[in-house]
Amino acid sequence: MRIGCPREIKNREYRVGLTPESAKELASHGHEVWIESGAGEGIGAHDAQYVAAGAKIVAGPEPIFAECEMVVKVKEPQAEERAQLREGQLLYTYLHLAPDPEQTADLVKSGATCIAYETVTGPNRTLPLLKPMSQVAGRMSIQAGATALEKAHGGRGVLLGGVPGVMPGKVVVIGGGVVGFNAAQMAAGLGADVVIMDRDPEVLERVGTHFEARASTRFSNKANLEDAVSEADLVIGAVLVPGAAAPKLVTRAMLGTMKPGAVLVDVAIDQGGCFETSRATTHDDPTYVVDGVVHYCVANMPGAVSRTSTYALNNVTLPHALRIADLGWKEALRSDPHLAQGLNVHAGRVTYPAVAEELGYEL
Ligand code: NAD
Repeated sequence: MRIGCPREIKNREYRVGLTPESAKELASHGHEVWIESGAGEGIGAHDAQYVAAGAKIVAGPEPIFAECEMVVKVKEPQAEERAQLREGQLLYTYLHLAPDPEQTADLVKSGATCIAYETVTGPNRTLPLLKPMSQVAGRMSIQAGATALEKAHGGRGVLLGGVPGVMPGKVVVIGGGVVGFNAAQMAAGLGADVVIMDRDPEVLERVGTHFEARASTRFSNKANLEDAVSEADLVIGAVLVPGAAAPKLVTRAMLGTMKPGAVLVDVAIDQGGCFETSRATTHDDPTYVVDGVVHYCVANMPGAVSRTSTYALNNVTLPHALRIADLGWKEALRSDPHLAQGLNVHAGRVTYPAVAEELGYEL
């Protein structure tokens, strides 16, 4: 199969669909790999590395959209990319169609077959192609919070790990799922005083067993949240209620009880945020202050660590890409019900029930 990877054109997107290592793997299976010149620059992968991996470098995205059977990307195709998609072509990338009627209409019109990373499932109702980005965001939330706690960045001037003779900072992680678990790992690793809050007893048990004395767990209800937040130096918002907007767990009134210069990092901002005072920010201007409390609410945190994020993403997307290329998409989906869940649009129709329902398409 001829597989193409264009340069990402969404504003501030530095990741790339295929690393040179992934290109090599596909080439070693006998596939032709076309990479747009400069596509890997955002992760420090130069054209020469792709050539050494057995790929061909092409100038601009046009040859890829015109001649490749499968297009591998990271972000949803932008309008000018959608205009180049063709009937029968396979698109493999993040799509997030439900809140995006314009993109959905264009993909339907294109006649292409579109597999969305975010709806590919794994065992036990997991979403394995989303998980690495939650791992990245969770780990990064502590880095971002630690920086925001520095005095020059508006914080209260606390070093999370403390030093001998001085108490460490207190970190409260709300939500003990993928983001929260990874945040707690980083915070505990730094020597901070960590509390993980969740309302699912199984999650509390799992993280409690894992962290033992390195972190404590606490049931997430209003009284416990009020108490924990008032004592925290850093609060990480990491909750998810599937299919719903994030619940507003830290209210404006609660900010008044917090220490001046304490920091809130709202990782759940892509679902509306779990703090009442959260609004989405960008890597260019990531923080703002409300009632003396610093807020960090960047919606695409993994974009800042494009190299790590790209490699983490390729680790989970490449095995499916290989199967699709080796078997053809129909057989690959037929023989793997988890991958089949990724099919969102095919031959002018929306094929994913939740998207069809949300946007009023007939299945
Ligand atoms: P997850 O499903 O693994 O974990 C969510 C956890 O929240 C669950 O354990 C659940 O029990 C818990 N929870 C639900 N309601 C709660 C409540 N009231 N109090 C305490 N805990 C509660 O989800 P995840 O992968 O960890 O993702 C968390 C959020 O981070 C999602 O909104 C996700 O979209 C977002 N995210 C953001 C970025 C970013 O760049 N900002 C990147 C990746 C993920």
